[in-house]
Amino acid sequence: RLITFEGVDGCGKSTQLKLAAAWLQSRGEQVVTTFEPGDSPLGGEIRRLLLSGEHLPVAECELLLFLADRAQHVRSKLMPALSDGAWVLCDRFSDSTRAYQLAARKLDAAGLEPMLRFAECGITPSLTLWFDVPVETAVERMRLRQLAGEKSSRLDDEAVSFHQRVADAFVRQADAESERIVRINAAESIDEVHQQVIAMISARFQL
Ligand code: C5P
Repeated sequence: RLITFEGVDGCGKSTQLKLAAAWLQSRGEQVVTTFEPGDSPLGGEIRRLLLSGEHLPVAECELLLFLADRAQHVRSKLMPALSDGAWVLCDRFSDSTRAYQLAARKLDAAGLEPMLRFAECGITPSLTLWFDVPVETAVERMRLRQLAGEKSSRLDDEAVSFHQRVADAFVRQADAESERIVRINAAESIDEVHQQVIAMISARFQL
């Protein structure tokens, strides 16, 4: 049981993932939480290469680095946890690659799906929670986070249209795969969003 948490930066998915994990654990379930990019020793290096700003990879190189991270992550962390019978809650997965690299960076779609499958090695989310929030709200949250010194995101006009393309891509993906991808209204309070998450997981897995 792999549940992926997806959405634009600032949608609140990481906070919700922690709350969902705590809720499942409180019910006696075995839970592994993880994230992309970067949740393996090698992946941590890839994350630094991608996000430190030290290098500015071309879009094609960026895509391959994200896929390299996934190939390592799937085999070193997701597969062992899933075969142990744990619930695996993963912050970002292939839908982020489709939204960020394909749609927002405007890479050619041809050939991407086979590459995704190669990196995923047969691992498909049982459920994807898509945290849908207006881009203005997400950008405002990113600004606040930046002011608090927690995380920096580029927030100029170009970056806002980039995030809009990411958000639009999630809408299209959710339409195309409405069985797997479930929309969460992430504009509400943390607790209200958590209640939606619990309701979705309970309904999908008959808890
Ligand atoms: O989810 P998290 O904030 O850890 O993601 C780190 C950064 O990597 C974010 O700024 C996100 O926009 C970016 N990212 C990306 N392409 C992906 C996944 C994440 O550009 N496929």
